[in-house]
Amino acid sequence: MKTPKLLSFATAAIAAVILPPTLSAVTSAEAQKAMTPQDAFEALYHGNERFVSGVSVNRDLGAEVAATSTGQYPLGVVLACLDSRTTPENMFDTGIGDIFVGRIAGNFADEEMIGSFEFAHKLAGAKVLAVVGHTQCGAVKGACDGAKMGNLTRTLAQLNAAIEEVPASVKPRNSKNPAYVQKVADANVRLTVQEILDESDVLRDMVEAGELGVIGGMYDLETGKVTFFEDTAHGLKMP
Ligand SMILES: [Zn+2]
Repeated sequence: MKTPKLLSFATAAIAAVILPPTLSAVTSAEAQKAMTPQDAFEALYHGNERFVSGVSVNRDLGAEVAATSTGQYPLGVVLACLDSRTTPENMFDTGIGDIFVGRIAGNFADEEMIGSFEFAHKLAGAKVLAVVGHTQCGAVKGACDGAKMGNLTRTLAQLNAAIEEVPASVKPRNSKNPAYVQKVADANVRLTVQEILDESDVLRDMVEAGELGVIGGMYDLETGKVTFFEDTAHGLKMP
């Protein structure tokens, strides 16, 4: 059994070397180590450009399964909403083993999610963390309306801080006002980036050491484009 595993590892290493930087379909320990947080961010950035332009990489997923079976060396982490239309692997045109993905309705980060990010970055070497909200978010709309149902009530309550962040002058304050809903979604991304850095000494130290970049952004359901918020960038600059 050992020989095929060694062979596929070798295949993965070779693929990582010969593929252009924008095609991060298969990475290796060496490729991950050589990558800076800025490189990893630009891989996501250009992946989204390909997605929007309709030129996503035509992947051989079976080959990627085989090539990644012996280990994972992802370039980054994406925190996104549960929404079925906001799949990070699609929006950033990434392959198997390229990114860790955390998803929850309203794309907020609680302690357990932040602990998962500490694993992904400190132990598994991922170089960039992107918090990506989206337009017309149902969870944000529900929070704006104070919706209550079962356990969802507690989930949506996590967005109250973002609601409070939007000036009282913005009215009406319910889901019938798309501008208000978007302001809450934007505020939620900014607060979530800050929350992660405030709550995690591990990740904050990595950013300060230049080992990790963190940024927030917004996915547009109508265009597929992710607009990154420059004011949320930590250890990264816009490409
Ligand atoms: Zn959503």
